[in-house]
Amino acid sequence: MPDSLAPPSGPQSGKVWLVGAGPGDPDLLTLRAARLVGRAGVLVHDGLVDPRILAMAPAGARLVSVAKRASRHTMPQDAINALLIAEARAGREVVRLKGGDPFVFGRGGEELEACRAAGIAVEVVPGISAALGAAAAAQLPLTHRDAASVVSFVAGQCRGLSGQNWAGLAGVGRTLVIYMGVANAAAIAEKLIADGLAPDTPLALVENAARPEMRVLRGALAELDDLVANQRVHAPAVIIIGAVTAREDGAVEELAEMAW
Ligand code: SAH
Repeated sequence: MPDSLAPPSGPQSGKVWLVGAGPGDPDLLTLRAARLVGRAGVLVHDGLVDPRILAMAPAGARLVSVAKRASRHTMPQDAINALLIAEARAGREVVRLKGGDPFVFGRGGEELEACRAAGIAVEVVPGISAALGAAAAAQLPLTHRDAASVVSFVAGQCRGLSGQNWAGLAGVGRTLVIYMGVANAAAIAEKLIADGLAPDTPLALVENAARPEMRVLRGALAELDDLVANQRVHAPAVIIIGAVTAREDGAVEELAEMAW
């Protein structure tokens, strides 16, 4: 057996799976994720994972919440890494379940590196990231031959926002999806307009995508802050900016009404 296929540590050692749980609806799990959750010994999950998915764990599974949500970190990243490693070293099969995809704003990279550095076997299972889940649920294509051929994902949380260079990511022919942006809506609109984006650029906010309480709200860039405040938009929500959000008005408004 080539070295790369051999277990990195002894036969007693367990394994960590970094698993994407998708945006909410359990039907949007991959078959592999569903299988792993269904046989997990230890399931370490963050605050975004839908309770319906946690309910798929076997009766004897130990569920550990590390509830990572903006500004409500209950466990520092180092402690999460240490927990995964300790559980695997104790011989357990650890399912680390994350909202969306582990490698899109999920800190999956850090956990992967920590496990590898500790010699723990680790595998990554992709999930449907919020941008894709929201686009499908709201029926807003992220690319469209008539509207956009470039799509970008950015993080809109306060820390480091002013240092990020988003120039050219939004505008004609482009779709920009902002994760973690609702708490910072005013600064985001200001930043994009300062970069040269038209204040009337259309956008959509998709809150709780692929969950029963989903809302789809539409507006223009200059109104983003008012929209968030007046409609009391809360995380988790993505902001989708660009011409794709102005197509098929009827369909999108119908969905928004359904969700009210
Ligand atoms: N790894 C995740 C992203 C984690 S960052 C993924 O790939 O989706 C957390 C941000 O994801 C939230 O602030 C929000 O912007 C977005 N998000 C996650 N789930 C969502 C959902 N169901 N609806 C809308 N946005 C969601």
